[in-house]
Formats: sequence, C-alpha cells, structure tokens
Amino acid sequence: MIACHPPPGAATCHPGIIVLSAFPTPTPTPIPTPSLLFPPLSSAKVSPWAVIGLIGHLSSVICHLPLTLSLRCLITAGPTREFFDPVRFISNPSTGKMGFALAAAAKEAGWSVDLVAGPVSLPEPAGVMVYPVVTAAEMHRQADALFGPCDVLIMTAAVSDWRPKATAPQKMKKDGQGMTVELEPVPDIVSALAEERRTDQFLVGFAAETENVEAHALDKLERKGLDLIAANSVAGPEGAFGSDDNKLILLGRKGYREVIGPASKAAVARQLIAAIARLVAARKAS
Ligand code: C5P
Repeated sequence: MIACHPPPGAATCHPGIIVLSAFPTPTPTPIPTPSLLFPPLSSAKVSPWAVIGLIGHLSSVICHLPLTLSLRCLITAGPTREFFDPVRFISNPSTGKMGFALAAAAKEAGWSVDLVAGPVSLPEPAGVMVYPVVTAAEMHRQADALFGPCDVLIMTAAVSDWRPKATAPQKMKKDGQGMTVELEPVPDIVSALAEERRTDQFLVGFAAETENVEAHALDKLERKGLDLIAANSVAGPEGAFGSDDNKLILLGRKGYREVIGPASKAAVARQLIAAIARLVAARKAS
C-alpha cells in the first residue's frame, strides 16, 4: 500500500477509494454462448393448450410495457483513472456491472444504446455501441459528443472526484520516503451536461452512499439538475461495488419514490429501464 499525505488544503485520500497501482492487464471475460432455450418443435411434447396459455401470457406482458417508445440512450459505466505518473493512478472499485447490465436491458427494450465505459473487464453487450475511455476528462469529452441526440442519459459511472494536479512524464522513483500527491476536483460531468440539456431529455444519475442514502441522493437530484436518481448503499460487504446483486431507491421529481430489488443487477437493470420508460412516456403525455 502506498501512503498518500496531501498537504494542508489539498483533498484527502478516502480509505478504500484510492487505488495506487501499476497497470493491471484486464482479462476480458469470454462472451457466453447463448443456450438453446427451446427444443426443436419436432422433439418437443407441447400441448396446444400450453401454447395458447403462453401466447396469452406474453400478450398480457407486452400490453403492459410502453414498447411504443423508441429511445436513444447514453449510458456511462465503470470507474475512471486519474494518473499521477505513467503507471500509477487514483481510481475506485467500480466494476461497471450495473452500467453494462443497464445497457443490455435498454437494448433488450429496443432502445439504441451508446455506452461510454471506463476501464472494466466485461464483455460488450450485443448490439450496443461501446466507447472505451480511461480518464474523467476523456469520459466528459465522449459523453458530451454523444449527448446531443440522446433522449435518456444514465450516468452510472463512478467518476473520480479528484485527480492529481500534475502527471509526471516518467515513472516516479521510490526513495524509501513518503510522498505527497496534490489533488484537484474533477468537473462534474452530469451537471455540465444538465446545463446544456433540452427539456425533453431525461437525465438519470446514480448516488453511491455509505450513510443517509436518501437524503444525500435527494440533494444530488436537485444540485445536479437530474430527473431521477438511483440511490444505492455501498457500505459494508453487501455494498454495490462489484456485487452481482443490487438494491436501488429511485427518487424523482414531485416526490416520486420506488424501490427496486434486492435482485440480480440484470433484473434490477430491466426494472430501472421499465421505470424510465414509464416516466418518459408520462412526461410526453403531460
Ligand atoms: O457526487 P457524486 O459522485 O456522488 O454523484 C454521483 C453521480 O454524479 C453519478 O451519476 C456520477 O456518474 C455523476 N458524476 C459525474 N461527474 C463527476 C462525479 C460524478 O457526472 N465528476
């Protein structure tokens, strides 16, 4: 572990949030082969009543989904890395799983999806345009370039809150002494996009909190000019970072509140996309 001793007035290091390391080489997970969901009709023993029942069930599900909305969605995911020399950086434990699950769910809902992803080791969701970035500045530039035509922005990325004021051009040498890295705040991407938004665009943020989850999330909803915020707890071993499951408290305008999960991130993502579709449809209709 490398100690970080900021000078008075500089941002302090948050335990567990700052990672100082040499480049890890992420090993991409292989894309799973889709399994055969249904046996060939010739070999299946299916009663005609079961088929009629299934069609009835599917049509009742379909009729309750706002499928008429064909939305263009921009999602950010994963952490950012802020380098203080060519091989060492400040980051956080985000794995990008929630953002990638949302991209897959949005695609499944028939939306067109752009995914701006920080450094993660996840397979690309099928049919999604992925734009890999590393630093917050790169994420900001890429999100800004894609924001104009999007209908829905979902900022799940765990953007670094601070970055080193300077980046050494060469690898810094150890001399057995402590060291100080001076940090400066990273401009807030979603707040900047909210300032240039059209009123018909729907902006969703995430709030990862360790305490007073709803109060902090409501504050961010207002301060960052969002339409909806998905609050989750990252406290303790059950926290959302890296976990396969999640629980979200959705907080929106006019007192809107909905709890999703706990469930797998894939299931939570589908429900969040459905909730966004309902809120966008309601706003279009009003
Ligand atoms: O302030 P905080 O980082 O908790 O806010 C979280 C929300 O703001 C997330 O949606 C995150 O993607 C976004 N954010 C951002 N730019 C930053 C920091 C956070 O867009 N520099």
